[in-house]
Amino acid sequence: MKWRRCVSLPIFAVLILMDIVFYGTVFIFLDDWVGLRSSAGLTNAVIFTLLASFTLFSFFVCVFTDPGGVPSGYFPDIEHSDGSDQESRASEALKKHCDKCSTYKPARAHHCRVCRRCVLKMDHHCTWINNCVGHRNYKAFFLLVVYATISCLYSMVIIVACGVQKDWESAGTIHVKTFYITSGVMISLLCLTLGTLLGWHIYLLTHNMTTIEYYEGTRAVWLAKKSGQIYKHLYDVGVYRNITMILGPHMLKWLWPSASGHVKDGTSFPTVRDSL
Ligand SMILES: [Zn+2]
Ligand SMILES: [Zn+2]
Repeated sequence: MKWRRCVSLPIFAVLILMDIVFYGTVFIFLDDWVGLRSSAGLTNAVIFTLLASFTLFSFFVCVFTDPGGVPSGYFPDIEHSDGSDQESRASEALKKHCDKCSTYKPARAHHCRVCRRCVLKMDHHCTWINNCVGHRNYKAFFLLVVYATISCLYSMVIIVACGVQKDWESAGTIHVKTFYITSGVMISLLCLTLGTLLGWHIYLLTHNMTTIEYYEGTRAVWLAKKSGQIYKHLYDVGVYRNITMILGPHMLKWLWPSASGHVKDGTSFPTVRDSL
């Protein structure tokens, strides 16, 4: 049952946090700054509500979309694997075998100990969405981070603008000042955390890399540097193509979390070797 995935304390915490940020930004700070009945207040409230709605929508798409499991009866294409002889082909096949699931796993798939199964193009298991981030829900996860970061920055601007313009002489009691400072610090920390996460996933997306592959590849990068070469990730087929493989071929659908018709079966991916 997909709905059972919602019964999780971290998911509840995220929803509460979203509620607090939304309510505080619109009904406390924006109202205090320009008033919700003014055209500036109304315009900002509509824009912020739209951003918050997209964040919430992306969040639920992440939670309810299956990241992708290994198709039943899957067997690796050993004939086209890297090995040149029978022995290396056999060891390649063994590497692709999951002892816990007792099945073969495609390239880029990994076993998740929390989900207790192999997940296609696994990025990481995310406690906050109570789901794995993998082949089918990575786009929604990326957009969740994008919308959440923009929403937090927007909120921070409203809080700071409100604080700067406030008449502290007449309304500046110690409780109000403490509330403003605490809110400003909290939203700044949230912006910093989400901004760092966004920067990291922009790097991964433009290099067509998962978090697991990044850490697996650090030794390969070190070895390449040592021998004076430049390491190139196997699935990095160019920035634009990398982006379209995740967000989709049509730019108009890039920002829609559930537009995932372009997502293939996840058992094979284009590599740099294909274009050689
Ligand atoms: Zn497994
Ligand atoms: Zn998982």
